[in-house]
Parts: sequence; structure tokens; C-alpha cells
Amino acid sequence: MKKAVLVILIICVCFSTGCGKQADIVQKDTEISKPQNDETDPGEPVSRDLFAMDTFMTLTAYGENVPQALDAAEGEILRLDELLSTGKEDSEIYQVNQDGEGTLSEDSAYLYERSLEVNELTGGAFDPMIYPLMQTWGFTTHEYAVPDAEELAGLLELVDLSAVSYSGDDHHISFEKKGMAIDFGGIAKGYTSSRVVSLLKEQGIKHAVISLGGNVQVLGTKPDGSLWKVAIRDPENISGFIGVVQVSDKAVITSGGYERYFEESGNIYHHILDPKTGYPSENGLLSVTIVSEDGTLADGLSTALYVMGLESAETLWKGNKDLFDAVFVTDSGKLFITEGLEKEFLTDRYPVNVIR
Ligand code: ADP
Ligand code: MG
Repeated sequence: MKKAVLVILIICVCFSTGCGKQADIVQKDTEISKPQNDETDPGEPVSRDLFAMDTFMTLTAYGENVPQALDAAEGEILRLDELLSTGKEDSEIYQVNQDGEGTLSEDSAYLYERSLEVNELTGGAFDPMIYPLMQTWGFTTHEYAVPDAEELAGLLELVDLSAVSYSGDDHHISFEKKGMAIDFGGIAKGYTSSRVVSLLKEQGIKHAVISLGGNVQVLGTKPDGSLWKVAIRDPENISGFIGVVQVSDKAVITSGGYERYFEESGNIYHHILDPKTGYPSENGLLSVTIVSEDGTLADGLSTALYVMGLESAETLWKGNKDLFDAVFVTDSGKLFITEGLEKEFLTDRYPVNVIR
């Protein structure tokens, strides 16, 4: 049997503080068997790095036609960034937020409808109308400020899905209160990774890994038929990892307060806000990783379950075991995984509590 040195990619979830994000890919050279039939030889991986959606991204694919497929993937990412960005003045979402109404494109309408679904599923923990709060806390500009109670009360009035009119037929949306605004930041990257994977598939690619900051989505298995290994960052030591999930055809998406935060008067304020209080969520979790075939859902749920805390997240999972699995790290240093990951999650650092 032919032997060759192939590269095993361990894709690590992103880490960032302050502005922008950094994604690392740890590469290890290792001896593994090449497929015997050269016709199915996927060749060497081709990678593309780019910065979009305020995040470092790496796209890696195997097979023929990879450069063209990656061109198409990159084009799709840039298109979605231009469309969905809350900060770019030419974007559709910026315009809708300015005007308080508008007609959503197919992509934005899909994201709005998926956001409503995640909002319902999570009892409101995920709320796409969170933008006025994000702005006031300064997470959109990096000019951070802790709002006072009165200001927060006013802002919470604007985070109100019941004051949004939306027609599923013509995708027209309008806000009843001045100052209301959409933010797809908690779900857009998961949607983007799903779109990229679909696009690569259409281009005939069978094996790929998409890492959009903390969002990883894999297409197929590794070329040798084994599972991809996606490392999950240790929220208490962001240069390390709490473990690895082994997956094929899945999204692995992590949310954590460590990804973006500021410090004031000795307090840490992070970028995932509880729509019920207006404050950064404080429910005893340091990070939540969602593993699901549905990248959009995984992204929405990673944000929402982080807000909900372990107990409510556990209840939600028990009613929706077929939709996703999860890895939770608590602020008391405990690690929990849902049953579906029992064989797929590898770690040597923590006792693992399995939720059944
Ligand atoms: P990442 O920063 O890796 O994208 P998340 O997927 O958790 O992490 O998304 C955080 C983003 O989601 C915030 O920057 C903000 O745009 C938005 N967001 C914050 N809190 C909420 C919430 N409760 N519901 C919906 N979106 C939120
Ligand atoms: Mg998310």
C-alpha cells in the first residue's frame, strides 16, 4: 500500500478580544494511508484565508476544481457580508434599520424567519432585534459604555419582536417603534458557512472545512474517510483547548463571553446580551458549542443557550435531541456534553458530565 505524508488539519475555534477575530489552524504532519485507487486520490488540500464579517476565515477543500470552487465560496461570503452587515452603509440591513422598514432579499428573509424560529425555541433568549442594545453598549463601534438603568429600560422597549410587522409573502418588514433595528450577528456566520458548504458541494467538492471565526462547518469526511477533528477552545485559557469533536457533515459553532468583551471598574462586560435584562448574560456558562447538521440553527442556538444557562439549555436539548448536540463549559470549570457526543468528544483534561 502506498504511503504518503498527508496533512491532518485540526481546525480550532476562533479567539478574539476587542476588535476583529483570529482563527488558527493547527496543522500536524502525520503518516497516514493514501487511498489505494489513484482515481479517487483527492490530492493536496487547498486553503484560502480571508477577512470578512469582522472575522478571520479559512476555507480548505480537497479535490479537482478547488481554486474555482473557493473563488465561488469567497464571492458568496463577500456578497453575504455586504448584504447582512449592520455597519456597512450600503448593506440591506443597514438600510432597513435606517428606514424602519423595507423589503428583505431571499437571504435576509430566510435569516429573519430562522431567527423567529430560534427565538421561539429558546423562549426569547435569541432576539434578532438586539441591535439598539449592542450599539449602546458600544460593541458595534468599540466605544464601550455601561448604560444606566433608565437608559436600559428605554432600550429594552425597542427589543420587541411583537412590534415588528413581517409578511412571509412579499418579505416586507416594518418596525412600529422608532429606533428598532435588526442584528443577524448571532446567526449570520452559521448561515454563511452552510451556504458555502452547499456551494462547494454544487461544485463537486466532497471534502472541505470552513472556519469562519468560531464557526466551523465540515463537508463530508476527511479524504481518507476518517472524521474531521474540530478543537474547542478553552474559555479559561484561550490559547488552549478543552477537547476535540469528531464530525462529518456538521457545523460546530461556539459562543462565549471571552470572544468579545471590555472591562470597566473591575467588571467584565461581554457581547452576548440577555434580551430580558439588557445586560451581558450571566448564567454560569463560559462557552457553549453546538454541533448540528444545520449551521444556521447551530449559530443561533450557540448564542441563545449561552444566554439561557445550563439548566434551561439542558431542558431544551431533551426536547430536541434530533436537532443538535452541545458542549458546555461552566464558570465553575465543569464540562458537560450531550449524549450524542459521547463517542465523538475527546478530551484528557476534564471529567466529562454526560447529559442524557
Ligand atoms: P460570535 O461573536 O462568534 O458571532 P455569537 O454567535 O454568539 O458569537 O454572536 C454574538 C453576536 O450576536 C453579537 O455580536 C450580537 O451581534 C448578537 N447578539 C448578542 N446577543 C444576542 C441575543 N441575545 N440574541 C441574538 N443575537 C444576539
Ligand atoms: Mg451564534
